[in-house]
Amino acid sequence: MPRNLSKSRLIEFRQCPKRMWLQIHHPEQRQADPDTQARMDIGNEVGALARTLLAPAGDGILFDTQQEGYAAVFERSMVSLQARRPLFEAGFQHGSLFALVDALLPTDSPAGWRLIEVKSSANVKDHQRDDLAIQAFILRQAGVQLEAAAVATIDSTWVYPGGGHYQGLLKQTDLLDEARAREAEVQDWRDAALQVCEQPEPPSVAMGAQCTAPFACPYTQHCQAAAAPADAGITAPIEWLPGHQSSGLRAFVTTHKPRSMAELPDSLLSPMQRRVKHATLSNTPWVDSAALQPLLKGLAWPLHFLDFEAVQFAIPRWAGTRPFEQIPFQYSLHTLESDGPQGRLTHTDFLDLSGQDPRRPLAQQLASDLGNSQGSVLAYNKGFEGMVLRALAAQFDDLAPALSAIEARLVDLLPITRATYYHPLQQGSWSIKRVLPTIPGQTGYAALGSVADGQAAVQAYLEGVRLAETDPHQVNHLAQALRAYCEKDTAAMVALWKYLKGVSASA
Ligand code: SF4
Repeated sequence: MPRNLSKSRLIEFRQCPKRMWLQIHHPEQRQADPDTQARMDIGNEVGALARTLLAPAGDGILFDTQQEGYAAVFERSMVSLQARRPLFEAGFQHGSLFALVDALLPTDSPAGWRLIEVKSSANVKDHQRDDLAIQAFILRQAGVQLEAAAVATIDSTWVYPGGGHYQGLLKQTDLLDEARAREAEVQDWRDAALQVCEQPEPPSVAMGAQCTAPFACPYTQHCQAAAAPADAGITAPIEWLPGHQSSGLRAFVTTHKPRSMAELPDSLLSPMQRRVKHATLSNTPWVDSAALQPLLKGLAWPLHFLDFEAVQFAIPRWAGTRPFEQIPFQYSLHTLESDGPQGRLTHTDFLDLSGQDPRRPLAQQLASDLGNSQGSVLAYNKGFEGMVLRALAAQFDDLAPALSAIEARLVDLLPITRATYYHPLQQGSWSIKRVLPTIPGQTGYAALGSVADGQAAVQAYLEGVRLAETDPHQVNHLAQALRAYCEKDTAAMVALWKYLKGVSASA
């Protein structure tokens, strides 16, 4: 019996034929991923809002395959074309392909339609163009007279005026001509995908860049486990080299298929890559103590260690904010009063789980905590802290002088660390979470529990805000976890700075 393929399976096939095969034959191997679920939740939220924006008169017809079943939706969708009303999640089938479309709007002509695929990203991506081409092909073959086909994305320059007025949030990019020109491509994908579906075994595909782009593949653990026997014993994988995707290195890897960085000639590597290679192969940390001295010398006392946590919303919540704007809701601030073993270390922080716009109270407290002080403000990757401070200064005129002065005092500990320190346990990463456990006497983030990285912090923030009115006990628990996590980040910076300072003094 011929197999039916959904648009989603075909998009999976475009990412990786093995992914599609596994999804069809072994969906039980799929690994649940909170990040993917969070992205799907955002997509659903944007989709629901889009329906109100695209049918402001409230006359849209919504289809639901879960309730009605696919066959009924396909049939009712074709019948509903006669109603000339906006259709949402309508289903169409042609041969072995079918698709559910986000929105289909009647045009001014008697039988014309505008297809709209709604996405929660800021720009149209290549896989979304594929997505639209597949839908346009199916609809045209099913007899729908398409006069336009667009991808609706979020306009990240739009500013939310408040009051639930979201007209202007979505911008549409019309791609009908492109979609029409790709019909032959779509048919080729379909034919190739159907062939793969029928194979009794998964296609042989090596893990690579396709495992993370355009989506993180939910079969990564399955494929890693399958590859594990072959990779057993490799203690210096090439992926640990910074910039291992550079064209020169990729060409060598494609031709010679090395499995370890030991097989890479030094002549092909940058100084940084050579450092990582030799530290890894010799299992010896590398420190450039002489280079550290001038880098650390210019710091002014007392030293402040600052870290923000921020959340982004595809659909802005607060008036005056843009989609995807980084909204800081928390910071941690350690201050080291003076050098030497007697130097007093103090800590303060800010966290807002009220569900109100946290920017002004955060900016006010930060200006009070740091605005009148002296000394360098250390961040780890100061580009982020600087961006947050500039945005706050632009928003609040009265606080701008204090916030701009804090920004001017920022010093970035990340490039200093990257230029002077590498430990084999970092496995190619200079994230503070990887660096901290390599410092003598320090432990990593594992003991923190549920909030141990930035993504988990955002989820905890959203959960805390959601429960703010109903579950103070759980909100208190989340607040403690968030505070512990953010404090750990700045405490890690203090520990790293002390270690580097000690090393530089011994040079
Ligand atoms: S993990 Fe990579 S190789 Fe395996 S199915 Fe997914 S994309 Fe394909």
